[in-house]
Amino acid sequence: MSLDSKIPNGPISDKWTNYKDHINLVNPANKRNIDIIVVGTGLAGGSAAATLAELGYNVKAFCFQDSPRRAHSIAAQGGINAAKNYQGDGDSTFRLFYDTVKGGDYRAREANVHRLAEVSANIIDQCVAQGVPLAREYGGLLDNRSFGGTLVSRTFYAKGQTGQQLLLGAYSAMNRQIGRGKIKMHNRHEMLDLVIVNGKARGIIARNLVTGEIERHSAHAVVIASGGYGNVFFLSTNAMGSNATAAWKIHKKGAFFANPCYTQIHPTCIPVSGDHQSKLTLMSESLRNDGRIWVPKSLEDAKAIREGKKKPTDLSEEERDYYLERRYPSFGNLVPRDVASRAAKERCDAGYGVNKTGEAVYLDFAAAIQRYGLEQAYIKGLDADDKKLVIKLGTEVVANKYGNLFQMYEKIVDENPYMTPMMIYPAVHYTMGGTWVDYNLMTTIPGCFSIGESNFSDHGANRLGASALMQGLADGYFVLPYTIGDYLAPDIKTGKISTDLPEFVEAENNVREQLNKFINNNGAHSVDHFHKKLGKIMWDKVGMARNAQGLTEAIDEIAALREEFYRDVKVPGTIDSFNQELEKAMRVADFLELGELFAKDALHRRESCGGHFREEYQTEEGEALRDDENFAYVAAWEYKGKPSEAVLHKEPLVYENIKLVQRSYK
Ligand SMILES: Cc1cc2nc3c(=O)[nH]c(=O)nc-3n(C[C@H](O)[C@H](O)[C@H](O)COP(=O)(O)OP(=O)(O)OC[C@H]3O[C@@H](n4cnc5c(N)ncnc54)[C@H](O)[C@@H]3O)c2cc1C
Repeated sequence: MSLDSKIPNGPISDKWTNYKDHINLVNPANKRNIDIIVVGTGLAGGSAAATLAELGYNVKAFCFQDSPRRAHSIAAQGGINAAKNYQGDGDSTFRLFYDTVKGGDYRAREANVHRLAEVSANIIDQCVAQGVPLAREYGGLLDNRSFGGTLVSRTFYAKGQTGQQLLLGAYSAMNRQIGRGKIKMHNRHEMLDLVIVNGKARGIIARNLVTGEIERHSAHAVVIASGGYGNVFFLSTNAMGSNATAAWKIHKKGAFFANPCYTQIHPTCIPVSGDHQSKLTLMSESLRNDGRIWVPKSLEDAKAIREGKKKPTDLSEEERDYYLERRYPSFGNLVPRDVASRAAKERCDAGYGVNKTGEAVYLDFAAAIQRYGLEQAYIKGLDADDKKLVIKLGTEVVANKYGNLFQMYEKIVDENPYMTPMMIYPAVHYTMGGTWVDYNLMTTIPGCFSIGESNFSDHGANRLGASALMQGLADGYFVLPYTIGDYLAPDIKTGKISTDLPEFVEAENNVREQLNKFINNNGAHSVDHFHKKLGKIMWDKVGMARNAQGLTEAIDEIAALREEFYRDVKVPGTIDSFNQELEKAMRVADFLELGELFAKDALHRRESCGGHFREEYQTEEGEALRDDENFAYVAAWEYKGKPSEAVLHKEPLVYENIKLVQRSYK
């Protein structure tokens, strides 16, 4: 099967407009005869469900939490990008497009990214209209801050709760439609398979997680909005429940999986503290607006700090290495995440780490507190030479900007980050890979769409901060509602899809069989036992730095672990009741397959780009070294029975508007 990305012809800035002007539409009366399943009600699925229902379609929405409000999107702290240029600092649609393509290390599809930049401004208007309380400046205008990989301020935010507030906006839009009966919400339901009838996605098999009942649901199209698969590493900043099952099940039914190895390791997370941890905590990238990252200049000081003989505040400015400012003077602490993460690893590997494990660097607000304090003293006509007063005033400003993040840090680490620098280290955070979609956001299965983090579409090999919320909401509010109509236009006379069709029966039987297999497997180890083992292989050999030998070993080790898992996993309880171990078993089974494909993809990509860093391919300065001649393509994998037998398809990436050069943030 050949890949057709269906990118419209014409100049980049006209593609989306022309496309919308010429697509097929479904008239309002006919929309009432069409059902759409949306799996996932985070920002992507929630916004899509609300908009599709508003348009008149009958939406059946699913999430595994007790409410759409609890999707992982709620965790997003820092902000959402939009090319509004409120600051007058040189931003534009083109610049957002350019920054995103460059940030993704030239491995994203130009047409999609340009469309994303175009609709970014509409998202902010939409959310403000919904009442989302985005931060405002004193004069009442929406405020902005900077995120990595940009030289402008285009990140809109709601203190450290941007995702939560945006999700409440999407959820209230959904609720209006739930109230009208246009969305039928299935909380605590997990999709466990896709049903394909005559080559088209026509429904899903879902398990009611409370009663254990297996249900068949039909529709004219299925939208997957199930989020990312960072939890394949076990430890990540993702919510504990985030999983790959929906995306992986459609992959096994024919949806190609693109660039699985593109993972984002976020530079500012609270370091791992021990073996019994199951979750890592992000400290938002917004903190890099004001926090300065450093390690001691000398190995002796680093050792003394690790041994508790010195404190960071004992070191003078001259004794500190602000390594990002040193290496990347133009972008400084605001280099993209992949660059900042690798730089932290490099310093820690060289022995400069500052916590007991040697895997932490400092994020220091002392300079910002001083700077803001002085400014406030001048504004208020107070004594700018009074050091205590300046610190008090500066602390207040920092607390106003990032208070809840500082509080979270203090609760977890038990140190006051206003007085002593935070300790941070990179952690798995986001997956740029996902189900392959064309320009219409449709997978290689007709009628099966994928949006938000679950698709691969817009971020190339590295996502810029504050761009995931933008993409999820762009897909849900502004892109899918058009493109799905084009697909559904010929379906207006199809009528209801029966769930008695043999395809539904077969899919349901397969799901039952899999569930029963776990319950009847009298093994010795918990699901987490295997998940942790998988995570360790992934982090050690498929993590921040990869090489051919480690990847080859990882592929074998994951395949062996998978066999052991099926032989020796113990899942208590029954299938027809609330059973969280069973839920986990199904998810980890999929991670154990995805992990292998992930490593296989990383092994085949003999270059470094963005978050994919192959030790064999780096510049003398340790930067990622791309090979555009051989690898400027999307790697889309077709399932053939086992991850090891997956077949590679290539979608060439054509750059007509942005010149392909090696990335530099100096
Ligand atoms: C700690 C943290 C902070 C972040 N901060 C930012 C930020 O400031 N700015 C930014 O742009 N991005 C941020 N991100 C990234 C961003 O939050 C996510 O990429 C984005 O929210 C994903 O949205 P989504 O709708 O695609 O998926 P999710 O929000 O993960 O939603 C997935 C949905 O799918 C459902 N689901 C999954 N599988 C199934 C299944 N099998 N059956 C039924 N339902 C299913 C879930 O119940 C849920 O409703 C952050 C990420 C993390 C981890």
